[in-house]
Amino acid sequence: MNDYFISANDFDAFVSKMASERNVIGPVAKKTKFVYGKIQTNKDLRLDFDVTILPPKKVFTPTCQTLVTFDGSKFEGAVDKQPVVLFGVHFYDIKGLDMTDLLFSENNRDENYMAKRKAATVIGSSVQNVSKRAFWGSVGANVAPKGHDGFITKIGAGYHYQSLTQKGEALVGYGNFKPATEGQAEEARTVNVSMMSKCPEALKHSSEAIAKKVRDSFKNQELWANLSEDCFSCGSCNTTCPTCYCFDVQDKWNLNQVSGMRNRYWDSCLTEDFAKVSLGAGAEENFRETRGERFRHRFMRKAAYLNEKLGGPACVGCGRCSAACTADIADPVNVIKKIMEV
Ligand code: SF4
Ligand code: SF4
Repeated sequence: MNDYFISANDFDAFVSKMASERNVIGPVAKKTKFVYGKIQTNKDLRLDFDVTILPPKKVFTPTCQTLVTFDGSKFEGAVDKQPVVLFGVHFYDIKGLDMTDLLFSENNRDENYMAKRKAATVIGSSVQNVSKRAFWGSVGANVAPKGHDGFITKIGAGYHYQSLTQKGEALVGYGNFKPATEGQAEEARTVNVSMMSKCPEALKHSSEAIAKKVRDSFKNQELWANLSEDCFSCGSCNTTCPTCYCFDVQDKWNLNQVSGMRNRYWDSCLTEDFAKVSLGAGAEENFRETRGERFRHRFMRKAAYLNEKLGGPACVGCGRCSAACTADIADPVNVIKKIMEV
């Protein structure tokens, strides 16, 4: 682990050189919002972003991903090992990535995800602007961001960069980095700590108290029906979430009906068909048929079911679900508040 400093002018040259030699993905402007996209020069990279529409999970599990191709009885894996530098990930999204790393690597290891993840260099960045629905300052304080390769922090005269792995250290070669002074390292620490109190929203209870209350509310059907009354079952709260990872697998056959590919697509437990299963002979069963059951399932997953495994809630407080919900009923801060009051 090494600490470096690079001036603002040298930083621009660094980004452009890195982008000319490596495949770099980072936050870029899209009209009034931000998305993760290809960085061609330093002008593309917007480290002043507040939040991206979709989280960085899209780099490792694209919305549509080919898993295998087939031709008759021959199958071939479609694992993508292309190296990528994912530059500019806020700490809450690093936590989300670390959670999906665990979930995709335990038990049935997902090679399509893991190969992409292994080939990536992930560089975190300090939060310069806070999104309107963020509450990351009050959620999962015990869960440390980890699994990234370096972290860059905007400080007065330029940027402080901390390399955390060999992959993170390798990026130093693209720019005019100098060893950071203790004062610059301290300034970076202060910048990152001070941001933690800048969120516009906050949870008022501990993760443990919330987990218990959410679980205890499982059978309160009236509560879940009320909370989900305006839900369109669109699934936007799931697809924009950095810790949601469910997918649907579909085979696409070519016209010859012999060859094709098996793809996976993002799926969402809030949609009506998600829990529908075939009973054979044209019969079917939907084991989360009502909006209330589906809404409840999301909050059980975010606030209770996974806590033990992840060391904290499966929510990092990014606020994307709140911003994406047309009915404005998905905000975990508002929902948890109502649950805690019952
Ligand atoms: S539940 Fe909402 S706030 Fe929490 S991580 Fe997912 S999108 Fe972000
Ligand atoms: S985004 Fe809102 S309306 Fe859409 S499924 Fe989620 S809670 Fe329902």
